[in-house]
Amino acid sequence: MRGSLGGPRLLLRRLREVMAKPVSAQARLDDIVVQIAFNMVAEVCSVYVLHADSRLELYATEGLKREAVHLTTMRVDEGLVGLIAAKAEPLALSDAQGHPAFSYRPETGEEAYQSFCGVPILRGGNTLGVLVVQNKARRIYSEEEIEVLQTTAMLLAEMIASGELQSILPPGSDTVLNQSHALRGVSVAEGVGLGHVVLHEPRVIVRKLVAENVDKEVERLDEAVQALRDAIDRLVDRGEQVGPGEHREVLQTVRMFAHDRGWLRRLREAVMTGLTAEAAVERVQSDTRAKLHRQTDPYLRERLHDLDDLANRLLHQLTGQELVASHDSMPDNAVLVARSMGPAALLDYDRHRLRGLVLEDGGLTSHVAIVARALGVPVVGDVANVTSLVEPGDAIIVDGGTGEVQIRPTVEVEAAYAEKARLRARRQEQYRTLRDLPSRSRDGVAVDLHMNAGVLLDLPHVTETNAASIGLFRTELLFMVASRFPRATQQYALYKSVLDAVPDRPVTFRTLDIGGDKILPYMPRLEEENPALGWRAIRIGLDRPALLRSQLRAMLRAGAGRELRIMFPMVATLAEFDEARAIALHEAAWLQRHGHEGPSDLKLGVMVEVPSLLWQLDEIVAAADFLSVGSNDLAQYIFAADRDNKRVSGRFDLLSVPMLRALAAVAQAGIAQNKPVTLCGEMGGKPLEALALIAIGYRGLSMAPSSIGPIKALLLATDVAEVSAFMAPLLDGRDRGGAIRDKLRGFAEERGIPL
Ligand code: PEP
Ligand code: MG
Repeated sequence: MRGSLGGPRLLLRRLREVMAKPVSAQARLDDIVVQIAFNMVAEVCSVYVLHADSRLELYATEGLKREAVHLTTMRVDEGLVGLIAAKAEPLALSDAQGHPAFSYRPETGEEAYQSFCGVPILRGGNTLGVLVVQNKARRIYSEEEIEVLQTTAMLLAEMIASGELQSILPPGSDTVLNQSHALRGVSVAEGVGLGHVVLHEPRVIVRKLVAENVDKEVERLDEAVQALRDAIDRLVDRGEQVGPGEHREVLQTVRMFAHDRGWLRRLREAVMTGLTAEAAVERVQSDTRAKLHRQTDPYLRERLHDLDDLANRLLHQLTGQELVASHDSMPDNAVLVARSMGPAALLDYDRHRLRGLVLEDGGLTSHVAIVARALGVPVVGDVANVTSLVEPGDAIIVDGGTGEVQIRPTVEVEAAYAEKARLRARRQEQYRTLRDLPSRSRDGVAVDLHMNAGVLLDLPHVTETNAASIGLFRTELLFMVASRFPRATQQYALYKSVLDAVPDRPVTFRTLDIGGDKILPYMPRLEEENPALGWRAIRIGLDRPALLRSQLRAMLRAGAGRELRIMFPMVATLAEFDEARAIALHEAAWLQRHGHEGPSDLKLGVMVEVPSLLWQLDEIVAAADFLSVGSNDLAQYIFAADRDNKRVSGRFDLLSVPMLRALAAVAQAGIAQNKPVTLCGEMGGKPLEALALIAIGYRGLSMAPSSIGPIKALLLATDVAEVSAFMAPLLDGRDRGGAIRDKLRGFAEERGIPL
């Protein structure tokens, strides 16, 4: 290597000795810059540390004027050093002063140096500082030299992360690692949780950075890569799911990267500079994460995530550590932070220790969200890069209502949220006092508030909230958390325990609603161009009647001697409902013929989720015993906007003319034939939306348990005749978007209706 004395390994060995010396942090930094400058034959070596207020401060230098240490500062976007910090990428220039970003600092005496090479000090993809070498003469720094600087920057990152620099931080400053962050995601499950970070997929902590024997480390790396490839190959071949959200095509991409030469070359190069195999993986992973932080293209972000995943697997392979959090070491106030998580994984955690969940992926209608709501765990989804911004054990606050996440909050912020949590608890207490009041509006109109459920854990909420019934029991969650197709006896046991837990109120079971985004790990995944418009829900049920039949039989047997309500999801035509109904009646007759007691009263309903039904409402109402509007899906089909695609799901307003007219038509069709119509999508649990629904004729809404209190408070304060009269002219078709929502909010606020 040109210009290096003794090579990178000698440098690392020297630095390891420096690290071990019992000296002050400043003395150690001073020694480090001397060693680097000497080894790299550079006249200058300087370390800049990034502060929480986004200023870079000169902490140590060999070659620049010593007086400038702790005096020279610059913003993240200022000068060459700032540029490196902002981009988190190395920069090497043989004519530094010719670069447009060069900024002259007279106090440092920098003007004498022509060549400049700087690298970011990275940890987990976050920039903690910048390491720079400079030379008087024009010099072209080689790839290897940049690599060596990156490796030594890792040691500095370790020093910053260990808190050692705390003693030389200027008063009132903090490093970026202690920086507070206020992040915003989407609100997924209500509630405020204060606690400490537990990473769902814990990071491997690499303690030993410098290799004793480089050849041995290369060997360890090669062996681990081979073992990793074999393990991935086996998984792909078996086509198995290896964990939540890890499906076949994800694995195939991961396999492709595992064989990628460029990635392996980078790892090997990092080991060759003298790092242990683990430290080399971490270094390369940190570069990937830094790129991830800056990448906005969703496709490229996904690929970088895959690469990050692969590095994680390799680290676990090298250290033999577990890939998921050990549940024993959970603190009592754990806030889980994860890229993504399946419903089964969440159920594995001890609910009593969970204060919240933060997800990088996963929005309002994801399945983990449904489980989290059942468990009463506040959730914020869609929080970009959160897994790399937190360290295990960090203080964190989750506000599921507003979608805010506070990382390492200041005392003031923490106090404000603690107060918010107390207020919320008090409000919940007030809702409990409303529990036994009749569910009627101020002008005496009865509106039944039902509860949505999907797991047994939901059921105690029925009595707590005094819900009129279970208006929607999503049976697919049982199927999604199972490792194989649940047998008829298991299904019977589940439905029976649901009914036994709710002896005094009706339960509406929905038949299996899978396909689209709801994937069963043990069912072959179909490659469909448009899964939301594909083979799903009742379509699967009718094409595979054995599945539907066994489910219906299990429900009918479980409902022996009592009223039973069953509804079918995604019905698009009258004929589909007729067919499903015929299967249900056939099963009921079969049970009776074979001497089994059936339900005392069987009601069969249709979920209104597909717009085609809107033009055959009278007939569908006549054919069904009841209707239940699945507004989540109905809206996605009416507006042709994928409910799980963030780019489009927020483009339309549910409180707009087309949606409200469609919903009103369904309610009116039910009223005309005296058939019950409820709505069980998420909108029923949102105050302003619920107010609009009541105004246009809905007398039954089914919602998550936590929404029942607020909606009841709203109902008690509402004059239905008045709000109906207010809404009617708004549906005349002139609205251009947003106006109905604003006007209705104004109406509610003027009348003190709690929203
Ligand atoms: C709906 O679509 O509104 C609904 C209740 O069903 P799911 O959210 O389970 O698709
Ligand atoms: Mg639906």
